[in-house]
Formats: sequence, structure tokens, C-alpha cells
Amino acid sequence: VPAELYREFMEDIASEIERENKIINDLLSLVKMDKSASDLNITSVNINEMLDLILKRLKPIAEKQHVDLVLESFRPVTAEIDEVKLTLAITNLVENAIKYNKPNGSVKITAEESRQMAVIRIQDTGIGIEEEHFNRLFERFYRVDTSRSRAIGGTGLGLSIVKHLAVLYGGEVSVESTPGVGTTFTVRLPLLLPEKT
Ligand code: ATP
Ligand code: MG
Repeated sequence: VPAELYREFMEDIASEIERENKIINDLLSLVKMDKSASDLNITSVNINEMLDLILKRLKPIAEKQHVDLVLESFRPVTAEIDEVKLTLAITNLVENAIKYNKPNGSVKITAEESRQMAVIRIQDTGIGIEEEHFNRLFERFYRVDTSRSRAIGGTGLGLSIVKHLAVLYGGEVSVESTPGVGTTFTVRLPLLLPEKT
């Protein structure tokens, strides 16, 4: 076999392994969350710092897509949560906001407190989502079938993980969108653990 062809096969195999690895990891996090709220590792977490870290990690991906990431937080927000799991969920939302954006678009992330809830908003200037998809968006493996989504690739597990986590905390996640203009996902989580309130 010519070396060039060999290299091509190897690259295909490597990217396929990477894709399957991502699916396995996503499924594992879903299964782990399924077990129960009892194995949540809850601590008092500074949400602003957590968001800052997430954005730092995703910055290289955003730059590659020429998307601007902006964090806006006017006041410190602290909540009793499992930092690792919430980081996973918010990372999914910011990743989506980058993936389904437009060149020179932006993603604005805000954190605030409202009615004993931490409110985290991820707002993008991307392709948007038609309202008819809203009720299925958070289902496992559901993807909006645009040529864009198909080309970008993904498993369709990200949002189901976000939803799962929000519900586990006694919170919620909601979506607003205008096709062609952009999408906003809002995550609301209780500041204090249910037992304490
Ligand atoms: P994965 O997150 O598992 O890698 P995914 O991004 O396709 O794959 P989800 O995060 O669950 O899966 O999102 C489901 C679908 O919702 C996406 O395929 C996309 O069609 C649509 N979607 C999600 N976020 C956005 C967004 N910010 N703007 C436009 N469409 C979005
Ligand atoms: Mg996703």
C-alpha cells in the first residue's frame, strides 16, 4: 500500500476513535448522573470564577471559528453545587454557542442572582433554532437536521446532559431563539441546597 494512502487510513481511524471516545464519555456522564443526587459532590462555588475558567479553556476553539467570547458578571454569584458536573453542562452550552455561530459572531455569558436562584445565560449570534424543535431539543441524540449541524457533527447528547443536571439540582434550563439571529439558553439553579432552604 502506498504510504500516502496508509496515512489517510490512519487519519480516518484516528478521527473515528476520537468521535467514539466522545460518545462514550458523554454516555458515561449521563449514566453517572442517572444514579442519584446522592453522589453529587456539593461545595460552595464561585460561579464567576467557574465561568472564567470554562471560557479560558474554550477560547482556542472560539478563536478558530472567529467567534468572540464575552463574560459579563457585575456581582459575585455563589451557589452550592457540584462544580465538576456544572462545568460539564455549561461547557456543552458554550461549545454549542460557538459551533452553531457565524464567522465574526459572538457569545455572551452572564451570571446573576435572582429570587434565590443563580441564573446563567449563554447568548449567541448564531444560526438560531426554529421553535418547532424546542420540545425535542433536550432529548438524547436529538439534533436539528440542518446542513450546518450535519457538517459540524456531534452526538446530540450535550443538551440532554444539561437538562438532566439542571433537574437534578432542582433547577431548569430554557431556550429562546430567532432563526438567523441567535439563541439564548438560560440555566437556573437554586443558590442553596433544597435541604437547607
Ligand atoms: P454533542 O453536544 O453531543 O456533541 P450536539 O451539539 O449536536 O452534539 P446538543 O448539544 O444536544 O447536541 O444539541 C442538539 C442540537 O440542537 C444540535 O445538533 C443543534 O442542531 C441544536 N443546537 C444546540 N445549540 C444550538 C445553538 N446555540 N444554536 C443553534 N442550534 C443549536
Ligand atoms: Mg452540543
